[in-house]
Amino acid sequence: MKEKNIDFVIPGDHLSFPEEYLSGKNTSESDYRIISVSYGGLNRDEKSLTVSVEHKDKAIFIENNDVVYGQVTKSDSRQISISIVGVVKGHEVLHILAEGHLRMNHDRRSNERNFKPVMIGDLLRARVIRAGQFSELTINGDGLGILKSRCSNCRDVLILKDGSLFCVNCNKWEGRKNAPDYGAPIFGER
Ligand SMILES: [Zn+2]
Repeated sequence: MKEKNIDFVIPGDHLSFPEEYLSGKNTSESDYRIISVSYGGLNRDEKSLTVSVEHKDKAIFIENNDVVYGQVTKSDSRQISISIVGVVKGHEVLHILAEGHLRMNHDRRSNERNFKPVMIGDLLRARVIRAGQFSELTINGDGLGILKSRCSNCRDVLILKDGSLFCVNCNKWEGRKNAPDYGAPIFGER
């Protein structure tokens, strides 16, 4: 299986500092930082020293069993809503904007302190159970789960340490249903 290792970014991601690269396509500069304004693959052009975000605009459909990337936009006791931003087709992650919701199975860790399977803002990799206008997704399965999450206390990005998520700032563990490649995701077919 061939895997393509690209940096997949979401709006708001910090890409670079203005003294390193110029702000290119689908990026903007704010507070002396170059941030992404789109979803897609990060492209650093070392000749023009420009950083940009590339995505393909063509008709793409989500189908059952596809692997998708998305961000948690709402999470309450009734529903976990996902804004789908990418779908794996072949060896590529293609840009798409679609709505989904997560079907959660009971997790044996859910009684543990500080364990929340997902949080609003989390970036995740999920599989499509039922494609539709609001596709039904699951993060239960090999390679699926949270790829990036923030501390519920200080909002710092959590790091993967000894298989669990840790906030360096608060010196605190937080449990999530994280993917094995949390923090350094490999995008593409898995
Ligand atoms: Zn923290």
